[in-house]
Amino acid sequence: MEMAKIGATPGGGCNRQTLTDVDREGRALFRRWCEEAGLTVGVDDMGTMFARRPGRNNELAPVATGSHLDTQPTGGKYDGVLGVLAGLEVVRTLNELGIVTERPIEVINWTNEEGCRFGPAMLASGVFAGTHPRDWALARKDAQGMTFGEALNGGGFAGEEKTGARKLHAYVELHIEQGPILEAEGCDIGVVTTGQGFRWFDVTLKGRDSHTGATPMGRRFDALLGASRIVEQVHQIALAHPNSVGTVGFMEVAPNSRNVIPGLVKFTVDFRHVDGDALAHMADQFMSGAQAIATAQGLEITIDPAGAQPPVHFNPEILNLIRTSADESGYKHRDIASGAGHDAFHIAKVAPSAMIFCPCVDGLSHNEAEEIFPEWAKAGADVLLQTLVTLARA
Ligand SMILES: [Zn+2]
Repeated sequence: MEMAKIGATPGGGCNRQTLTDVDREGRALFRRWCEEAGLTVGVDDMGTMFARRPGRNNELAPVATGSHLDTQPTGGKYDGVLGVLAGLEVVRTLNELGIVTERPIEVINWTNEEGCRFGPAMLASGVFAGTHPRDWALARKDAQGMTFGEALNGGGFAGEEKTGARKLHAYVELHIEQGPILEAEGCDIGVVTTGQGFRWFDVTLKGRDSHTGATPMGRRFDALLGASRIVEQVHQIALAHPNSVGTVGFMEVAPNSRNVIPGLVKFTVDFRHVDGDALAHMADQFMSGAQAIATAQGLEITIDPAGAQPPVHFNPEILNLIRTSADESGYKHRDIASGAGHDAFHIAKVAPSAMIFCPCVDGLSHNEAEEIFPEWAKAGADVLLQTLVTLARA
């Protein structure tokens, strides 16, 4: 609730976008809390914060946890924030109980997870894991034309440490589910086994502008009609593949006039699945199907790939630790796939990683009304603590 005051919106949520003044304020508060808990805060050259609690053997790579403190423009109080502050709570609890772990424990605040100001999302963790080159990340621009690098360095957010230089023994991220499954099934804990991969496309359909009154039905090249049939096709492909989703979320129609048959339509396509082969099959079906629809109507179609990420499979040993911790604490849990992207997806490439989900009310997220109950946060933090302590034994 204290963190949520920084960038608080009238609707009860948060607008604490990355590398803004309010982000700086949020980081300063986090740093103060960390230092009060005896942690040493390091910052890398992407602005990511690493708050370290020493272990008995500080030569060993740390066990890390964390998430992000940045939010959407009309974001909630818990997306990302829960994972960072639960890490801090774990450290405070270990301090109170006088528990020293063999390995150090680090609580991380990744820069620009949300991707709303600078795309893509999960930018700093992507650079940390070697998915994106740092120079490419620095050149990303916001809507005002300011680059990520200008905001990062001009705002004094960057540290000295080279991104990715820090080696992690393991990474466990607690996050709200952002979907309705755990609450509906009365579960306290989601054991996140997989992260959905995605395939994105940009599609352009060209037909011919012509008069709506004077052009007979049989002589039209209606790009919007073609687009509509492709939207339905995307929906059907997703329905035909269990546990997948498919969406057209953006569309531009030209000339967008009541009495002109639309000659040009641009739209996006987003397919997601936890199975890489199935995802490839969906993409193939879409491309050939969309081509067939366009050809049948005499439309010209271009389909450009606009991003792809393979599904992520989290570390089976850490997943078992999470299940055991939940069982021992009497928390009801189930395995779950993550529909949203998270920093842990990137970190899984460079360290054994896993995620814990906590339910959220009505599955609502990226919304000012995002809500969780204290018992849910407690369950998530308890399981996170047990998991981290076990991983930090040696
Ligand atoms: Zn998040």
